[in-house]
Amino acid sequence: MSNLMAGKRGLIMGLANDKSLAWGIAKQLAAHGAELAFTYQGEALAKRVKPLAEQLGSDFTFECDVSEMSALDRAFDTLKERWDTIDFVVHAIGFSDKNELRGKYVDTSLDNFLMTMNISAYSLVAVAQRAAKMMPSGGSIVTLTYYGAEKVIPHYNVMGVAKAALETSVQYLANDLGPQNIRVNALSAGPIKTLAASGIGDFRYILKWNELNSPLRRNVTIDDVGGSGLYLLSDLSSGVTGETHHVDAGYHVVGMKQEDAPDI
Ligand code: NAD
Repeated sequence: MSNLMAGKRGLIMGLANDKSLAWGIAKQLAAHGAELAFTYQGEALAKRVKPLAEQLGSDFTFECDVSEMSALDRAFDTLKERWDTIDFVVHAIGFSDKNELRGKYVDTSLDNFLMTMNISAYSLVAVAQRAAKMMPSGGSIVTLTYYGAEKVIPHYNVMGVAKAALETSVQYLANDLGPQNIRVNALSAGPIKTLAASGIGDFRYILKWNELNSPLRRNVTIDDVGGSGLYLLSDLSSGVTGETHHVDAGYHVVGMKQEDAPDI
């Protein structure tokens, strides 16, 4: 393909398998010449992540559970042992107790609220703190969010609140890190069937609804997300920061059910 990312290297956090949004972005980055390192959450995922990394020419994979600040420190130490500097980070991480991703938001427990906020929102701040130290000439950080941050989506519940915090964090981080030429943006992806999405109540209905009611009348794929990820992580978007960029077949601009959409 092009050498848009030639000479650039970065860290992909949140790859679980070949359905992951992180995989869609990693494939595009590698195809355009980037050098990649990958973290995985726990040894159980290592056996999935290592062969995928190898497919993209990377043998640089290591563990990182973002809920543990010491684990994050260890991961960035490992990164620094091989690379003095990085150009980009993909943060594609979210988690909540699936028992609270159904039913009503009003029933959210304190423990799960704090855990969801920690893993799905604060972790971006923790990653940005460490990544920025490795970006002396600037860089680009991208996280993944969802429309449930902006409007109520049944069952998304506490994850919607965490994504709202994540999107606002993107703005504050963009402002704090802008003077160092580090850009921070979010991709707001439409619904895609992944491991994480399978925990959300009635996800198949959400998928069908988006397919029938988005302007493009289809759902997006991880390749759609990958293309926009490449843009935000490359110099093509050099003037863009603090942005939440929708990759959702246009769903967020629609205010009501399409006339041609059948009942589901
Ligand atoms: P996925 O299951 O493939 O990826 C989620 C990743 O989060 C996994 O790799 C998992 O290991 C990681 N993770 C969870 N807790 C972690 C922890 N404590 N430490 C480190 N890693 C942890 O699913 P995905 O859909 O590709 O999710 C990636 C991101 O995209 C998430 O932030 C998700 O909310 C977001 N997103 C997904 C969709 C969708 O419909 N699938 C839509 C918009 C946004």
